Amino acid sequence: MSHLLPDDISLYWRWLFNVLMLGGRYLIFAGTAYLLYYVIKRKEWFYAKIQQKFPERKQILTEVKYSVLSFLVFATVLVLMRMASMYGILTSQVYHKFSDHSVAYFIGTTIFIIFFHDTYFYWAHRLMHHPLLYERVHKVHHLSKDPTPWASFAFHPLEAVLEIGFVPILVFTVPLHVSSLFILSMWQISFNVMGHLGYEIFPRRMMQNPVFKWMNTSTNHNMHHKFVKCNYGLYFNIWDILMNTNHAKYYATFDEVTARRDAGRKLVNTSQGQVEELELESNQVNA
Ligand SMILES: [Zn+2]
Ligand SMILES: [Zn+2]
Repeated sequence: MSHLLPDDISLYWRWLFNVLMLGGRYLIFAGTAYLLYYVIKRKEWFYAKIQQKFPERKQILTEVKYSVLSFLVFATVLVLMRMASMYGILTSQVYHKFSDHSVAYFIGTTIFIIFFHDTYFYWAHRLMHHPLLYERVHKVHHLSKDPTPWASFAFHPLEAVLEIGFVPILVFTVPLHVSSLFILSMWQISFNVMGHLGYEIFPRRMMQNPVFKWMNTSTNHNMHHKFVKCNYGLYFNIWDILMNTNHAKYYATFDEVTARRDAGRKLVNTSQGQVEELELESNQVNA
């Protein structure tokens, strides 16, 4: 988004702009999800919650604190990238005119960067689970055994550097239209918030579908926080399937969570229907 800024703006303002954009995106996506699932529908939708409890306020404050810290790190890396371009050390390959490349190229590269980030994340995440790095760095993300949407960016600052590392790799090597990066940014936060939602939103039959079973789910990442040494994926379940790192009870848990959610929803709808019927009857009697 920093391409929206004039070229001569100082690096300090650029850094601040990045922090505000990252923070604003987090506030909108994580905030909306939290408001809906944890405040407005807190009691009403509890039957569908993956882990049948709510986290303490202290945990949520820690999630927000580390996420804000991550945005300061991300903004710094983005400014350093800008400086590398300014001083001619590296050249950004990002293009702004659609006519510079074909539509097929634009679509192909947009899909490519989503798969690239998924692969990058899986292996960086596996690295973070090495005993030496886990205790010192990645444990911060695992302070939440039952995460909320606010945990989406709750990383140790060193991990935040690794998390954003795929951006300079792409920007300085692959010609990408600026909107491809925007699409990736929206895709990324949507999946990230979903993974930490604490509720499963995908249909129960998804695992029987030959295509959709390769997508990652909220249940999958929730189990990563609960059991730690399993389910490392981000957008897709491809690497977890290939490397046999899914939790042994992943599919059974997905089935249990979605069955409970669907049965609960049915029960609520039926009882609401009965109440409406009774109200209608009593109105008719009164009339
Ligand atoms: Zn982890
Ligand atoms: Zn997580």
